Amino acid sequence: MFESLIGLEALWLLLPVAAGTGWLAARGATRRTTRKRESGGLRSDYFQGINYLLNEQPDKAIEVFIKLIEVDSETVETHLALGNLYRRRGDVDRAIRIHQNLIARESLNVSQRTEALLELGQDYMSAGLLDRAEDLFSELAEHADYRVQALRQLIDIYEQEKDWPKAITSARKLEKATGNQLGWIIAHYCCEQASRHSSDGDHERALKHVQQARNMHGACVRASLLEADILADRGEHERAIRSLQRVEEQDPDFLPEIVGRLYRSYHALDRVDALDEYLSRLMKRYGWTSITLALADIKSESRGRREAIRFITEWLRQRASVRGLDRLLDFEIQDRRDSGGMGEHFEILKGLTAELLFERPVYKCRHCGFPAKSLHWQCPSCKHWTSIRPIQGVEGE
Ligand SMILES: [Zn+2]
Repeated sequence: MFESLIGLEALWLLLPVAAGTGWLAARGATRRTTRKRESGGLRSDYFQGINYLLNEQPDKAIEVFIKLIEVDSETVETHLALGNLYRRRGDVDRAIRIHQNLIARESLNVSQRTEALLELGQDYMSAGLLDRAEDLFSELAEHADYRVQALRQLIDIYEQEKDWPKAITSARKLEKATGNQLGWIIAHYCCEQASRHSSDGDHERALKHVQQARNMHGACVRASLLEADILADRGEHERAIRSLQRVEEQDPDFLPEIVGRLYRSYHALDRVDALDEYLSRLMKRYGWTSITLALADIKSESRGRREAIRFITEWLRQRASVRGLDRLLDFEIQDRRDSGGMGEHFEILKGLTAELLFERPVYKCRHCGFPAKSLHWQCPSCKHWTSIRPIQGVEGE
């Protein structure tokens, strides 16, 4: 992009051009007090900077240029652009120096100073200095013009720090500032708190946060799954099943997530026949591979392996599925072994399906395409919430 067209160091050479008009205008006024601003002084410093650049000493060159170029209304934008470019290139220390140098100037007006503070806050975040970034953005969130940007950065910080109560407060402020509903994200923050209490064994508090998540966003699948896990752990399987059955209404993309959980609860209640009925209905409507394979297992348990083989074969006639074929081969190989026969060609095929499925991602982010082997509620790559979903198709669901 811009950086590849013009070397970043070379941009410094353009600074005097950007500064030119402002410098000439200010020249008369400052001539009496600033010897450095004499054209001779500028020229010799400028060429010294260029010499450093040519001798591949960019650090020294930049020191010279920073001192050389006065910050005034004409050059603020150039300083901001350069600082931003350095940060994006990963040179955060240099970006911080440029922005701090800007902020120290008394000639900046309020909006320029605020802009520079916003940039400095982003430098701190890139450098992992979250405390400093938090202080800065909290201050900026008080300015109406910068509130939205500052709140977005604060939310990012609180998500990184897993400070969910503060993330909730900032998200509510952002909702107010923009008018956009963020209940579906706030519900995740509530679920994060619920998960934490649940792993500490505090089921009551966990369930309280789950309820908050549901109040925030009625279609929060994560809250339903969490609630079901907690209730099942407490042996309340009837209620756990009711929580899981909400998922169909909430977001059918996540139905594969309820299958194993449903099996656990129906099995505990000794009502696997009712699960067979429920999953058969879901399979007809959505056709997910996970649901079909769970049904095959149930049929194998209740009516024998041949029935499971017949069931999967029938399904595979209608759609191609590597996972379906893989499970069919499992059943066939087991069947041959039990009857003392040879299943060599099945084992060769099984080697092939196992290879095809080995370490394949099962989930993918809808937003950035990040592949994952397990379900993340927040994409580790693009940080979007609820964007990672089961992969569909021949090798997936
Ligand atoms: Zn993503």
